[in-house]
Amino acid sequence: MDEFKQLDHSVPGDWVIRWVDVAPGDRIYGMDFICPCGCGDKDYLPLTLAPKQEDHWLWDGNLEAPTIAPSLARRTPCKWHGFLEQGRWNWCAGTPVAANCLSPGKQR
Ligand SMILES: [Zn+2]
Repeated sequence: MDEFKQLDHSVPGDWVIRWVDVAPGDRIYGMDFICPCGCGDKDYLPLTLAPKQEDHWLWDGNLEAPTIAPSLARRTPCKWHGFLEQGRWNWCAGTPVAANCLSPGKQR
């Protein structure tokens, strides 16, 4: 049983990559995260290492400073759109940023 870091719900964009071993050599990866916009929403992304799988985000395998692709366009009221690159969330152009956002990342 692996121990994973607990998400800090008070930190916009906080994330943790975790996994489940479903069979020997068959591991399912995912990322829990708090929406970077500051809306406080918690979400989950299914991750995969290469080759890319349908409905999964491609992850570079880096646990300290992960990069995932493609970008994430949330279907939530906040409509946040951005991507995680080397452990930092980046805003895509036109994305509304909540007034209480604490970690705006790079504005694009
Ligand atoms: Zn949000």
